[in-house]
Formats: sequence, C-alpha cells, structure tokens
Amino acid sequence: MPNHLQRIYLDHSATTPADPAVVEAMLPYFAQIYGNASSIHAFGRESKIALEESREKVAGLVGARAGEIFFTSGGTEADNHALVGVAFAAKRALGKNHLIVSAIEHHAVLHAAEYLHANGFELTIVPVDHVGMVSPDDVRSSIRPATSIVSIMHANNEIGTIQPVEEIARVVHEHGIVFHSDTVQSVGKIPVNVEQLSVDVLAISAHKFYGPKGIGAIYIRRGVEIDSFIQGGAQERNRRAGTENVPLAVGFAKAAEISEQGLPEQTGRLKILKEQLKSALSEKFNYIIFNGHPTDALPTIVNVSFDSSKIDIDGEALLLNMDLHGIAVTSGSACSSGSMEPSHVLHAIGRDLKTARASIRFSMGKNTTQSEIEKAVDVLETVVRKISPVTV
Ligand code: PLP
Repeated sequence: MPNHLQRIYLDHSATTPADPAVVEAMLPYFAQIYGNASSIHAFGRESKIALEESREKVAGLVGARAGEIFFTSGGTEADNHALVGVAFAAKRALGKNHLIVSAIEHHAVLHAAEYLHANGFELTIVPVDHVGMVSPDDVRSSIRPATSIVSIMHANNEIGTIQPVEEIARVVHEHGIVFHSDTVQSVGKIPVNVEQLSVDVLAISAHKFYGPKGIGAIYIRRGVEIDSFIQGGAQERNRRAGTENVPLAVGFAKAAEISEQGLPEQTGRLKILKEQLKSALSEKFNYIIFNGHPTDALPTIVNVSFDSSKIDIDGEALLLNMDLHGIAVTSGSACSSGSMEPSHVLHAIGRDLKTARASIRFSMGKNTTQSEIEKAVDVLETVVRKISPVTV
C-alpha cells in the first residue's frame, strides 16, 4: 500500500478503537492501584472499590442492578455462559434438555448450542425471513415442555436487523422459559434496557463500543438458575472464577458512561450517514441487493450483495482490492480451515452461495465522516470495474 494512502476504517462491527478517555481511565489500574480485588488489605480494597463502581456503571447502561452484572472475558464468554449455564442447571434440576436459537446468531451462541447438542441436548434452530427477522410465532411453535432456554440476538452483527425481542420474550415467558439475548452489537448503538426488553440473561462486550478488548459482562436476572461457567475461586459471587480484571472493568465502565451520554446525538448522525451511503451505492451500482431490514436495523451497518445472477464478482478479490486501496470492510464470507465459507446469516436470508460471497459489510462508527463514505463508494466502483467482466 502506498505510504500516502489514507486508510479508512469501516469495520466498527468487528471492533472499535478504545476511546482516549477509556485508555486514560484504565492506566492507573495497571501499576499504581494494582491490588487483587479479592484481597482484604488496603491494596485490595482500593481495587475492589473501583471494580464495584465499574459494575454499577455497566449495570446502569442496561438498566440492571449491579448485583445482576458479572464480568466476563467478552461477549463470547457471556453467550457461552448463558447457554451452557442455563441448559445444565435446568437439566439437573428439572430434567429439561431442549434449547432454541435463531439461524442468524453469532457463532458464540450457535456453536455453544451445537456443543450442547453434541452433548445430549435437543436443539431447534428457528429460521428468519428474507430481511433477517425471527417470527415470534416460529419461536412459539418450537417450544416444548422440555425447553429450558431460548436465545435470540437483539441486533445482528452482519446485516444489522433488530429483532422483536420484547415480543419474543413475552412468548417465551408464557411458558416459564429463560430468555437470553445477545446484545453485543446493540449495546452502545441503540438503547438497551433489561426491563423494557424483558430479558433474563444478556451478553455485552466492551470493545464494540469504544471500550477495551477482552472484557464483557453477563446480566443474570435475580432468581435465574444458572451454573457458574468457570470453576475456581469465589470471584464474581461464585459465578465466574479468576482474579478480577480491574483495569479492563474500569475501561468498560468509562466506555459505558461515554456511550450513555453521546448516544442520541451519535444515533442521529449515523442514521444520516447510513442513508447517504445507501443512496450513493444505489446510484453507482445496478446489481446490488441491500441485506437486512430496511428500517428495523442498526444505524451503523450497511450490507450489500452483488447479485450473482447479474454480475460475476469474486468476493475474496473484492475484499482484497478494497484493502489494497486502504478501505477496511468485511466480506460475506469468513475464512474457515483455509477456505472461504459464505456467511450463515446471508445464507439464512436466502442469498445463494456466490451472491453471499460477493457481499460487503460497511460498519460505521462515531468518527466516520461523510467524505470517508464517499471515498469508500468511489473505491468500490473502481474495484468492481477492475474485477468484474460486466460493467455496472
Ligand atoms: N455476539 C455478537 C453479535 C458479536 O458481534 C460478537 C463479536 O463479533 C460476539 C458475540 C463476541 O464478542 P467478543 O468479541 O467480545 O467475544
């Protein structure tokens, strides 16, 4: 890549840069205030205070009580804990062994569900419609007497579709079943409140909204039966063993605070950028299909596919060429055992394999500008002309 090339980051759904105020808040907790938060001496107590203040702030972000928030190593661990913890507890106590997830869950949920299935649990995967919506009726008809947990994500990480979580929760609760929602992509981007959404368990990850990587949280509503996920010491009130990561918890809390303050303004700005991006893409390209729900979707994500029945685009070449031009986006496939596997999400909404591969996700963040969007669309045009035999 030429040195003068200005790189443009449009992959905020993958991760975000830590906010400078987050980094600053964390720094004292590495070498100055370093006591083990579980130690009872003054060094430990100082860390413990910071940890509990952080818990309060993270709880506040989602309208929970501090006692219902447990720090984890990130969204993946929180999702795994939710599914595995509830499934095992319900099987032991009630003999229930069935779980329900949607077809477009992140692999942190899907693979945890498949792990449970491989270990004797029954699994139902509910489909989604062509814009990625789960139907509450499909959830209702999948429920069995043996169902212990239903897990439906709030906002999808690839296409941005926002699920009717409250309605699904109502259906699930009619049957006394635990409802988990993966809110890793929605927290910090749209309002998330555990009471409004009526969730019992949810997963959060700090690095998706300008916090540090490697920390997240699981919200567990008081009274929900769930096994601890990591065995060892008594940290996190016996739910998650391991020395508490105070610097990351402090950074997580700072990110929560910043996000709460800036959310309405950010959402308004991003909605405008999203519309600009969508109209620029529609104007430039004939053969694109927008993926995801047209309105019930995150303001940060625009996902498009090049229709393989009309234009021949190699998804890998598309992504590599965008990268060569300094534009960081994500394609509709993920590298798995050396080959490019088309996205299970795009497949679930009905895209054929080639179209799914020829897809791009632009995900914008709080520092994204209009000129970056315009530049990215111009580069996409150049790249498509270069790699496609058909002029678009
Ligand atoms: N769930 C969703 C919807 C995600 O987008 C991600 C990350 O991409 C995760 C879970 C995993 O979170 P983490 O990276 O914190 O483990």
